[in-house]
Amino acid sequence: MDFAHYNNSGAVFAEELVNTKGSVSGNEYLPTVEEWQDFLTRFGVKGVSRLTVADVEEIKGFRDRIRDVFFADEEGAIKLLNDILSEVAATPQISNHDGHPWHLHYSSDDAPISHRVAAGAAMGLAVLIVEKGHERLGICAADDCFDVFVDTSRNKSKRYCNQTCCTKVNVAAHRARKKEAGTSS
Ligand SMILES: [Zn+2]
Repeated sequence: MDFAHYNNSGAVFAEELVNTKGSVSGNEYLPTVEEWQDFLTRFGVKGVSRLTVADVEEIKGFRDRIRDVFFADEEGAIKLLNDILSEVAATPQISNHDGHPWHLHYSSDDAPISHRVAAGAAMGLAVLIVEKGHERLGICAADDCFDVFVDTSRNKSKRYCNQTCCTKVNVAAHRARKKEAGTSS
């Protein structure tokens, strides 16, 4: 995993990994192995051409545990992350493969792909918590959404998983205010 190239990208990977499953619907947004390959490639995971259905199932198991980290309190989140990191034997390695500058990988290249995915996501959240604080892990504030997010904004202002939820809530609040004021919308 090549997360050290990009600021906070390990944490963003964790966020996007969790949100590959609908938080309310339970829908799988990446229903095929090919879509998982595209998703993992986008985050620099190596060896995805050999990805199997069994690998995807293992990744989904780790996805549920990474999701739990977002819903846990600080102490719980740290315990969950440490459990994952020791289980997948995260092994930091310095690499400059494919012409990239020196950067960190969080597992050895011959580790199973699900372990490399879990190590990358868990390290991303671990670094974010250590450097910026546990409150940077969030759950969407919209009523009907439990998608997760990492707040990398400078002033810790993020409240919604995405712009769609933010707009939806703002429109609803605007309508409610109008109703209170006795005007029709
Ligand atoms: Zn949302």
